[in-house]
Amino acid sequence: MDELSKIPGIGPKTLIKLQSLGINSPTDLIYHFPHRYLDFSNITKISQLIENNSVTITGKIIAFQNIFTKSHKNIQKAKVQDSTGTIDLIWFNQPYLSKNFKIGDIYSFAGTTSLFQNKKTIISPEYGQYNTGKIIPIYPETNGINSKWLRKTIQTQINSILSTLKETYSPELLKKFNLLGLNNSLLQIHFPQNQKILEQARYRLSIDEIISLQAQSFLNRQNWLQKKPTINLQTNSKIDQKLNKFIKSLPFKLTDSQSQVWQEIKTDLISPTKVANRLLQGDVGSGKTVIAMLACYLTHLNDSLSLIIAPTEILAQQHFQNFKTFFSTLKIPILLLTGSQKIDFTKIKPNSIIISTHAAIYQKTQFQTDIGLLIIDEQHKFGVKQRSFLNSSLNSPHCLTMTATPIPRTISLTLLGNLDLSTINTLPQNRVPIKTFLVPQPKIVKCYDWIENEIIKEKTQVFIVCPFIDISESMSSVKSAIKEFEHLSQDIFPKLKLGLIHGRMKPEARQKIINQFKENKIHILVTTPIIEVGIDIPNASIIVIQSADRFGLAQLHQLRGRVGRGHQQSYCYLFTESENDKAVKRLEFLEKNINGLKIAEYDLATRGPGEAFSTIQHGFPSLKIANFSDLKLIKTSQEILQHIISTNPNFHLKNLIRNQLDSNFNNNN
Ligand code: ADP
Ligand code: MG
Repeated sequence: MDELSKIPGIGPKTLIKLQSLGINSPTDLIYHFPHRYLDFSNITKISQLIENNSVTITGKIIAFQNIFTKSHKNIQKAKVQDSTGTIDLIWFNQPYLSKNFKIGDIYSFAGTTSLFQNKKTIISPEYGQYNTGKIIPIYPETNGINSKWLRKTIQTQINSILSTLKETYSPELLKKFNLLGLNNSLLQIHFPQNQKILEQARYRLSIDEIISLQAQSFLNRQNWLQKKPTINLQTNSKIDQKLNKFIKSLPFKLTDSQSQVWQEIKTDLISPTKVANRLLQGDVGSGKTVIAMLACYLTHLNDSLSLIIAPTEILAQQHFQNFKTFFSTLKIPILLLTGSQKIDFTKIKPNSIIISTHAAIYQKTQFQTDIGLLIIDEQHKFGVKQRSFLNSSLNSPHCLTMTATPIPRTISLTLLGNLDLSTINTLPQNRVPIKTFLVPQPKIVKCYDWIENEIIKEKTQVFIVCPFIDISESMSSVKSAIKEFEHLSQDIFPKLKLGLIHGRMKPEARQKIINQFKENKIHILVTTPIIEVGIDIPNASIIVIQSADRFGLAQLHQLRGRVGRGHQQSYCYLFTESENDKAVKRLEFLEKNINGLKIAEYDLATRGPGEAFSTIQHGFPSLKIANFSDLKLIKTSQEILQHIISTNPNFHLKNLIRNQLDSNFNNNN
């Protein structure tokens, strides 16, 4: 902070504004990268503009208008001319622009061409004084700190700041991997000489950014490996026999994938020197629960305590019932601990299986005995706080985390290096692929007719997920669900029996409805998105998701996974009123794809990690310059890291870590 205020022009007020951009030091200032450039060295002629291209044009402003529309919109329109033609440029709600432009002067504009009122235009272009042959950086800005200010400040300071920075890699490594030096990269990223060297700078800095994550993850793993398990689990022929007997008693045969994953997990659990820390991923319905049961059974046979944590009370209830059913012939103490269901901690037998919600655990639970195995189901649903609480409050149990959102390889290679990964990559054989359809507004009535028919004819059951208002189940979400429930029961399905559940109901009341639905006493379960995770009701074969465009793809895929669990053909109907191209495209992708991994990768590529994977990992770090979809970049980074570790064992990996992360992220596991 002090260092920053020594820079001329940075007073206390500016300091605060810089802070809001994450700039706390001169180095941060240099690492505040442009997010765009006006490339005045590469100008497109107006007559050659094509739709949907990112371009820079240069021309004379020949007219400027401030327009107020009937619908109270305020539009700024500039007519710009070059030697080949004219084009209109449009901004919204920026009346002050009229002061920035002088009719008759030449400016450069950069942006994406699109159609507006059926005419080719550039909407909200960046602009600058005409300035030949230069690539000008445009920065993420904040109120009072604009690109012009940043450009000027960085330009005057960059040399002295760079003189304080050291190259992190050896000359051999730079050469071997064809990397631009650090100082030159930082210089070029702000003031590029040309496009080619800008790309090299971007590449080098992207590599740095990914390596920073990988190094962090590597160090986390080393830390983890030093932990010794408090409780040692083991097998012997008697235990193995019992495990096999349990597997034979299951109502289905384990898939090959399940068997293999179980072997991996078992090997991990019985390792005497290492605390297991494994992520089990498998698409919705791939059968992760039975793997959790096996792990708990092994722990029980070692006279140790297992704790399973589920993100919702509904799911905890369901696990509890399933565990009791599957273990019904064995004498295993199985306990349920939720907000509404307390247990006496002094009476827990050391070989119990406890199934709990995170909320209950979070209330400073005191276990009398050490926990041997901790299983976190649908891990992505947990907040950072809850996870760090778990980490700090328990001894070092073996830890198995389960998630149904498949993790693209690029992500596991950067962020999850500290976890061992097991994947169930096939679904049980009895599954019929779900058919998914997008249903626009005018077809909704017909769709409901068809559903009613199907319920009567096929005796199937239906989920209807209500319009999604916000993620936390606020009163407005609940109210809209209640309203929708009344509308559906009275106007649409008066002949059928409907039930309603939402997050603000008393758990007993909600469980009652769920049980009735399980027993097929209710035809249609109207619900808020609380059923997203885990719920397993094989006889339900139709799910309707209203306002589908408001959900993330991963979440829609999860919701869709509530059906397709039995033998019958299942259907997912996505209702949407959206006419937004992008939104419709995303839904169409879901319509055509049932592979969770593909969907996750698509989400990553089109929406970026923040949005797409906040569901996998809270506190997902946002990258400044690298791209999480770039597998080649991420693999090269890993190669470089490996190279450093193997050629220079004394190298301090900490030197590779730039503090750009949400620090909470790395506390995870
Ligand atoms: P998820 O991986 O989404 O947690 P579940 O564990 O809830 O999936 O399993 C989904 C359904 O598939 C359950 O009804 C479960 O009993 C069943 N199931 C699990 N494994 C198999 C298998 N190998 N063959 C047939 N059905 C299975
Ligand atoms: Mg599950």
